[in-house]
Amino acid sequence: MKKTEIAKNLAAIKKDLKTAHLIAVTKYSPVEDVIAAYQAHHYDFGENRVQDLKEKADTFVKENLNKVRWHFIGHLQSNKVRELYKIPNLYAIHSVDSLSLLEELIKYENDFLGLELKIFFQVNTSHETEKSGFETAEELNRAIDLLMSRGNSKLKFYGLMTMGTIRTTEFEAEAMRCFRDLNLIARNLEKAHGLKEKLKLSMGMSQDYKLAIEAGSDFIRVGSAIFKSHHS
Ligand SMILES: *Cc1c(COP(=O)(O)O)cnc(C)c1O
Repeated sequence: MKKTEIAKNLAAIKKDLKTAHLIAVTKYSPVEDVIAAYQAHHYDFGENRVQDLKEKADTFVKENLNKVRWHFIGHLQSNKVRELYKIPNLYAIHSVDSLSLLEELIKYENDFLGLELKIFFQVNTSHETEKSGFETAEELNRAIDLLMSRGNSKLKFYGLMTMGTIRTTEFEAEAMRCFRDLNLIARNLEKAHGLKEKLKLSMGMSQDYKLAIEAGSDFIRVGSAIFKSHHS
């Protein structure tokens, strides 16, 4: 894709951000396009497969592009945890979707190269069966208790992530319901667990990021609206 087009798409989305941050999702994009975004001064990128992330991160190291912050946003298999931890400039995992995955992340924590890794728990607010994520408050509370009971951990409980409903005719209303739900869950958890810092909300994709910002998103994860040509 043309560099100028990527820069233009980034700028257009940034106008709507308010206090939210933009994660540019690169899962459909060749690394050249990701580098084009970096050269347009964008540094937060999201990938949903460990292998693809590793390849892109390796290229970034070779090219000395070290301001990058990598966000892992896809379903993470337990046997990929150690490989993920070795990725340079890994900044956050948005998709911790079960207690067993959290246990695995804790077990191998020392493999993580950095000082702090931000952890988002994924919540299945749409209740679609093909989506991952915590389904009940009880499960989520157990995971939070486990994560917070550990002093001196590199893993920081940072926020919650969700995706809006896909298969629906009431697309906007359903997305808004999911985003408002996540906001409410976060505010309740802050009280219940006596959290001093506000939990961050990771929600909103190309189709629905404007709604997500309206509902209080802190991190929108946008791929195709940046990296796919709009006039083809
Ligand atoms: C692919 C993906 C996105 C971005 O999707 P677009 O519709 O291309 O913006 C955001 N979040 C997750 C978890 C994804 O897998």
